[in-house]
Amino acid sequence: MTPRRIVVAGGGTAGWMAAAAIARTLGRAATVTLVESEAIGTIGVGESTIPPIVGFNRLLGINEAEFMAATNATFKLGIVFDDWRDGDDRYLHAFGLTGKDHWAAGFQHYWLAGRARGHHAPFGDYSLEHQAALAGKFAHLPDDRLNYAYQLDSGLYAKFLRAMAERDGTTRVEGKIASVELDGETGDIAALMLDGGRRVDGDLFLDCTGFRALLIEGALHAGFDDWTHWLPCDSAIALQTASIGPAVPYTRAIAHDAGWQWRIPLQHRVGNGYVWCSRYLGRDEALDRLLANVEGEVLTEPNHLRFTTGVRRRQWHRNCIAVGLSGGFMEPLESTSIHLIQRAVLRFLRMLPAAGPISPRDVAEFNDQQHADMVQVRDFLILHYKVTDRRDTAFWRQCAAMPVPDSLKQKIELFRDTARVFRRNEELFAEHSWMQVLLGQGIEPKTWHPLADKLTDEELARLLGTLHDQVSRTVAGLPPHADYVAQLCANA
Ligand code: FAD
Repeated sequence: MTPRRIVVAGGGTAGWMAAAAIARTLGRAATVTLVESEAIGTIGVGESTIPPIVGFNRLLGINEAEFMAATNATFKLGIVFDDWRDGDDRYLHAFGLTGKDHWAAGFQHYWLAGRARGHHAPFGDYSLEHQAALAGKFAHLPDDRLNYAYQLDSGLYAKFLRAMAERDGTTRVEGKIASVELDGETGDIAALMLDGGRRVDGDLFLDCTGFRALLIEGALHAGFDDWTHWLPCDSAIALQTASIGPAVPYTRAIAHDAGWQWRIPLQHRVGNGYVWCSRYLGRDEALDRLLANVEGEVLTEPNHLRFTTGVRRRQWHRNCIAVGLSGGFMEPLESTSIHLIQRAVLRFLRMLPAAGPISPRDVAEFNDQQHADMVQVRDFLILHYKVTDRRDTAFWRQCAAMPVPDSLKQKIELFRDTARVFRRNEELFAEHSWMQVLLGQGIEPKTWHPLADKLTDEELARLLGTLHDQVSRTVAGLPPHADYVAQLCANA
């Protein structure tokens, strides 16, 4: 059978993740050509990830120590949120599980019942990732008992993947895409036309051209759903600073009066950024705020970015699939963009069309699943802005007053009434993520599952005490995170 000619337009994180995964998985069943333009460059941000990336790298057969050494990566156990609830508070959204669930009642019910009976240890005390993050510790534990992701240099990650993809047969073409040629009969994309008259023909095209969305929107007009009314931030500045101490295994998201600031520690430096809503803050003031709040010597010029939160209405349209920023962007608060790239690429591989025409059923299924992912991420992000006691600025008052999607309203109110939260349809963020943010943002459930009241005082004290001790003992035995990373990379 003739191999599928797959053309990847763009060589940022999305383009090279796609090319590397496709070339590794399909081998001779496809040819992969990637077109990128050094003159245009990449967006150059995107350093904080979530745990499924560990699985993605394993799927590609990547050696973790080599990858970490090549990308200056550190381990990430969660995100510390400062000042989101009332302007003077802190909570941690840690990966992994907190406590131990009963099949009918999650651990939060036992914790709430315990609190009512005088057990005052915070919810996070029962999470291994939470405690290890705050203690600055890390090690690989048997059975992946410590859930983690990476904080990495995205430019170096793309370079690392490029080397892999090229080894696996991907052809890289340097050049600027000047136009997209459509097939006069079918309306599908026939070829990319490059500056200087070169053409790149293909059967399937992945649009990884970033915010430009040259193929999916520029040529095919797939449409865009604007979510700015729910996620109002539209501007960002990124810059790098020198490290002032050992890298911690968590990302920080610090709320400000019209947005928030990130801090992402890598081995050799720290990634910093400021995300804000331009309706309430000018670009120069935003830069001043960021510079006033970074630690360590500033190493780079500020990188100014504008974006519109929302999603491409059809992620797969005709013979083109949007991957990465061309498919939409929902701001980086929970580090979900690289993950959505991964989801799109793996989903595409699962739904790779057989020879002949593309089935509209494949396309519809892909689009439904992608859209569901994005809606779920969207709701989780809105939660951080909506459920807060902050009313100190016009920005926060707008967030508090905005109507939210019914899907999110149901989740918030169910938790407030009953302390229950459910994961639906393979949702990315599971119950334990929702719970930490719901509690962290200040929701006090009115009641809890009656099963937790079935335990006597002694039984409840034993349950909570045992879980608490297990976490403390395990964390006490872990090495400092920065030492562990240095040793791992030295042996790469
Ligand atoms: P880009 O990096 O923009 O790549 C586009 C590619 O297309 C480039 O190679 C470019 O040269 C090429 N191209 C474009 N036009 C042409 C043309 N005409 N001809 C030839 N080539 C062309 N994600 C996370 O997961 N975690 C984070 O912490 C995070 N933080 C972020 C912070 C901010 C402020 C922003 C805006 C995004 C953040 N992201 C984050 C998202 C992340 O940066 C992107 O998902 C990721 O970098 C993928 O980008 P991309 O490859 O789609 O686009």
